[in-house]
Amino acid sequence: MSTILNNIPADAQITRIEYEGPRIALYTRNPAFLHKNSYVISDIVNTLKKRVVTRTEKSIRKPESDARKILEQLIPPDAGANGYFFDDALGEIIVEAAKPRLLSTEAGFDLGNAMDQTGWKVRVRKAPHIPSTAIQNVYYTMKAESDTREKFYKELGEAIFRPRLTSTEHVTIKTLGAFQEVGRSCLLIETAESKVMLDCGVHPGSRYTWDAYPRLDWADVSPGEIDAIIISHAHLDHMGFLPAMYKYGYDGPVYCTEPTLPLMTLLQNDFVKIAQIEGGRLIYEQKDIRDEIAHTITLPYGMVTDVSPDIKLVFNNAGHILGSATVHLHIGDGAHNIVYTGDYKYGRTQLFDSATWNYPRVETLITESTYGAKEDIMPVREEVEATFVNAINGTLKAGGKVLIPIPAVGRAQEILLVLDHYMKSKILVEAPVFMEGMISEATAIHVSYADYLSRELRAKILEEGVNPFTSEYFTEVEHPTDREEAYREGPAIIMATSGMLEGGPVLDYFENIAPSERNKILFVSYQVQGTLGRRVLDGSGQASLMDEGGKIKIVDVKCQVQKVEGFSGHSDYNQIIRFVGKLRPKLQLVLVNHGDKRKTENLAYAIQRIYRVPTMHPAVQEAIRVY
Ligand SMILES: [Zn+2]
Repeated sequence: MSTILNNIPADAQITRIEYEGPRIALYTRNPAFLHKNSYVISDIVNTLKKRVVTRTEKSIRKPESDARKILEQLIPPDAGANGYFFDDALGEIIVEAAKPRLLSTEAGFDLGNAMDQTGWKVRVRKAPHIPSTAIQNVYYTMKAESDTREKFYKELGEAIFRPRLTSTEHVTIKTLGAFQEVGRSCLLIETAESKVMLDCGVHPGSRYTWDAYPRLDWADVSPGEIDAIIISHAHLDHMGFLPAMYKYGYDGPVYCTEPTLPLMTLLQNDFVKIAQIEGGRLIYEQKDIRDEIAHTITLPYGMVTDVSPDIKLVFNNAGHILGSATVHLHIGDGAHNIVYTGDYKYGRTQLFDSATWNYPRVETLITESTYGAKEDIMPVREEVEATFVNAINGTLKAGGKVLIPIPAVGRAQEILLVLDHYMKSKILVEAPVFMEGMISEATAIHVSYADYLSRELRAKILEEGVNPFTSEYFTEVEHPTDREEAYREGPAIIMATSGMLEGGPVLDYFENIAPSERNKILFVSYQVQGTLGRRVLDGSGQASLMDEGGKIKIVDVKCQVQKVEGFSGHSDYNQIIRFVGKLRPKLQLVLVNHGDKRKTENLAYAIQRIYRVPTMHPAVQEAIRVY
């Protein structure tokens, strides 16, 4: 406080200095001053080595309707501002604009003036082409939980910056899920001062509780002892258990990237809905998801953040799905650095840049090994796309329909880009493309967080104002009663969720498409053992489905069935090996996780042999002292 007070001119009119989670918030009655004299804050940051933000004092914040009117007058109509979200806990207005770049300082828009006139800090975001319910839901919950959040941020700051109890430094990793298996990713990092959890997933295919969820029972840790939960990306096997942590008493922070929050809650809400409809195990409810939202702190890539007295966190691009991150933990005063890859793609895709590898330091690496066996080499992208196009062309030319069961997040957006590209260039037969399920919702989140996409897509969306995910060929089926058009005679492509034929609108299409030899079911994603998708792929001639009344229906599968390999968000064997070789200084230990037992084993031996680094491929329920 004294550093801050000594550095701040009286004109800044600072009224309060408070913790705001991992940041220090300076409340001011003269926000324009600090905006114009930005050096004041950067000087303080350089001295304190802590994140500092300015907040406007509540008394100067104009009522919402007035503030909105003022902004509507200040914002040029060209910017296409169409959404205003007021965050009372932080005193921020998020403006959603069709052309967000027009509201930047570089484009001549005076954000300081906007803050001065409204008394609110203005942040600008890209407005999606269709409203995103998931993003609205996050906004709505954050607003409803304003008081809780304000209190939470203050207490969290005090916990993060609490004095250290000891000068000894040691680091232990406890494996709670996704070791020698894929699913329920979870591990715990324990130091002398703190306990931090990385990922908190479910195992979607499993039947028994003991292999469905992270082994917290074994970890000997109560939810209240955990300092932070860090989520690498929004796939259920990495975050599906998270709301249950709140149900059972965790009330600490979740750290994830900005797009991970709406994507994660979209999938968790769907998870709850499916369990309610199909009578599955309901491990948490919507209210637990709201609790999670209220406790989530989102961070952009590359920002260093204190999460406990001796651990700093940085997210970097993992190239896997929107917002996916590798987790870099800096422990103690330079004692030890851990990089946890989560799921990553060390290679370019249509959607994302390749995973970041240039960490300042890393001693212990925890890498996934989904494709960790030597023979797991993927064909190059051009080849994959050519196979995909040929697989569709044959069926369309014969007047048939192609059904693509697809996961809503990631793969769907990539396939949309591929379909549009090849139809426009007439390499793929032109035909209507119907999509149903959460695809459009997930696509809206991709547009909204275009900053997290590949360089090309980012430029298209943010600079040129083009939406690459829409096309004259695409039709969204918004309601089951609108499916008639998709079923009408003639060639068509249908994309529907879920990707493994485990529930969702895809089942209705499946029933309609499967009995005809003219049609084709085309898989583009991994089919887990035990799912209907896997049975169909393995050549099952019949499938039994449950109808709404709970009666079993038998569907004859006479159509062609094919899988195109290579549209993967994971690194293949070569990419993992190359990624590991890039890391500096020389690694001290590599832990291999997130792969079938044989793959973890194979990859661990390969890394040891090639780079002469000690490696391990522990099972679930092991504790490893890494420092
Ligand atoms: Zn994943």
